[in-house]
Amino acid sequence: MNAVGTFTVEDGIGLITIDSPPVNALSHRVRVALDAGFRKFSADPAVKGIVLICAGRTFIAGADITELGKPILEPTLREVVDLIEQGKKPVVAAIHGTALGGGYEMALICHYRVAVPSAQMGLPEVKLGLLPGGGGTQRLPRLVGPEIALEVVIKGDPVPAPEALRLGMIDALTEEGNLKEGALAFIRQVLADGRPLQRIRDRTDKTGPHKGDSSVFDAFRRKNAHAMRGFLAPENNIKAIEAAVELPFDAGIAREHELFQELLESTQSAAQRYYFFAEREASKVSDVPADTPVRPVESVGVLGAGTMGGGIAMNFLNAGLPVTLAETTQENLDRGVATIRRNYEASVKRGKLTQAQVEERMALINGVVGMEALQGADLVIEAVFEQMALKKEVFGKLDAIVRPDAILASNTSFLSIDEIAQATRHPERVLGLHFFSPANVMRLLEVVRGAATDKQVVATAMKLAKTLRKVPVLSRVGPGFIANRVMGPRNRQAEAVVLEGTSPEHIDEALYDFGFSMGPFRMFDLIGLDVTGRDSTERTLRSDFLSHGRLGQKQNGGFYDYDADRNATPSPEAAAIIAAYAEYRNVPARAPRSPEEIVADLLYPVVNEGAKLLEEGIASRASDIDVACILGYAWPVYTGGPMFWGDTIGLGKIVQRLDELAALHGSAFAPAALLREKAAAGASFTR
Ligand code: NAD
Repeated sequence: MNAVGTFTVEDGIGLITIDSPPVNALSHRVRVALDAGFRKFSADPAVKGIVLICAGRTFIAGADITELGKPILEPTLREVVDLIEQGKKPVVAAIHGTALGGGYEMALICHYRVAVPSAQMGLPEVKLGLLPGGGGTQRLPRLVGPEIALEVVIKGDPVPAPEALRLGMIDALTEEGNLKEGALAFIRQVLADGRPLQRIRDRTDKTGPHKGDSSVFDAFRRKNAHAMRGFLAPENNIKAIEAAVELPFDAGIAREHELFQELLESTQSAAQRYYFFAEREASKVSDVPADTPVRPVESVGVLGAGTMGGGIAMNFLNAGLPVTLAETTQENLDRGVATIRRNYEASVKRGKLTQAQVEERMALINGVVGMEALQGADLVIEAVFEQMALKKEVFGKLDAIVRPDAILASNTSFLSIDEIAQATRHPERVLGLHFFSPANVMRLLEVVRGAATDKQVVATAMKLAKTLRKVPVLSRVGPGFIANRVMGPRNRQAEAVVLEGTSPEHIDEALYDFGFSMGPFRMFDLIGLDVTGRDSTERTLRSDFLSHGRLGQKQNGGFYDYDADRNATPSPEAAAIIAAYAEYRNVPARAPRSPEEIVADLLYPVVNEGAKLLEEGIASRASDIDVACILGYAWPVYTGGPMFWGDTIGLGKIVQRLDELAALHGSAFAPAALLREKAAAGASFTR
């Protein structure tokens, strides 16, 4: 017995049971227990084999990342590993729940691995900007070969047990719910067969054939170049696996350690670890305790079957929840439903869904014309045109149709939830659920809390996000909420900088190299210049593009010219339109900006806008702004998002440049009071 370990002997087999809630993380206490258990059973002649198993909901789920970077207490992991791996008795890891990172590495140290079918395992360290530094990069390739190891380690996704068996990551599946008996039976068979003690570290059968041959690695790098762009960690993971192929085990471990240290000290990993916690933190609301009662959401209504309504409906269908989809005419409804079906059929073609699953999901749609059929819904999400008068009209009607405790949500991008709520007699049940396009894909869900929104309604929305596998970020009411508002200055600045004579290509390239999937001008062209360009009656750069018939990628090109395959090339006509408009506005030409200047002048204003969101209380945490930008705008996660990135740059430097921009372009760029304050105090937003 030990605080978190129980050691029992059953018929010649020693059972080490770790019980360290909530997830048996590989903490110092767990290491102490493992050390005690393995010492005890190694010394006990009555014990012939050992089973390592965990109580509670999971096997050792992973390393204890709160211990990362802190002084290491004895016994070290290395000592525990040696004790287990070098022991003279076979050890089987019995896996249920999730064995990730340090958890699966612990299983790799054992001589055998068995798991229940529902278990998941893997090495996700790459997602924290790290690598599996507990020997994972050296043992997994020896167990399954470098090709599979690369896929598992560099993708970092959890592998379901049946797939793990197929890949060789485990030796056997046991019956669900009968893990202990299954593991005992397995090890008895091993003993009965007299199988020699096989340590993964000694194996070369899977790595040997690749020694001196880099083709597997070259092919992997080529195939995944796009997904790995900008990230440091994948390359270090690859190098570590190469070391497993090329070097003896102990030299490989030393190389792994070096590559791990390099990542641990990198800003990227700090950013990715920060982001990992930021995402989890985002669903917490300080004045809405975790035990706040939530309302049931079992039947859902979606109003409007356009771009957003269809995508929103799909989220619920995917979660198995029936949706009443309401439109104004049969024709609009049919078009919306057909689009949903087309999206699902595309997933069938990509092998992501079966036809039967598509039919199951489609059968959950109840398409209706008019709003009466929404009366039974627990939640109605409105996704009609972006017009305040229309939104007020439909909310007034919905209020009279649905139950008094049903929740009413708007997917508006920019309109005031408070004003919409005023059209109802129950503003406390109204909130914003702001999905991002494509709504069935994007993981961000902004939960917009109105002045009157009930805490239960907020709690229900936060829980709903989980059901839909979204990440909720809470916002107060304000134009553009969080993501659209905070990224607005980047787009406005892009247009300002282009007028001063830096080309769209240069601006896009600088932001692409920063890590965005495309620069702002490529994005404008993709969305279509007509989408926002027609709002204004005065002459703007966009209205000039429209009057030349340039609507973007869909018609005549926009800031770029496009060929039939949609390849973009710099456009002389666009350059002429820009120059003419700059002259009309008397914008003095400046020398083209360097990539560093472009990044600063487009993105420092984003940090500033974030500071304003905090000042105004629209966002409650700097980390929420980072989550919204990373998930909503593909801001590169390895910078941690705009606020973390701003802290990395140094707020003083940002204030200085914003002051210069304000002198050039006006007070809109002036640093927010909060930003100035923090800079003066040497403080930060996120650290
Ligand atoms: P859309 O034009 O594609 O779809 C709107 C649909 O609403 C149309 O099919 C229309 O027939 C239907 N409709 C209009 N009045 C109706 C009524 N009274 N009852 C039932 N249906 C009605 O527009 P969209 O792009 O899906 O945008 C919808 C909402 O989502 C807007 O508020 C928009 O600001 C917001 N939004 C859009 C995006 C985006 O990227 N498109 C992203 C986030 C939020």
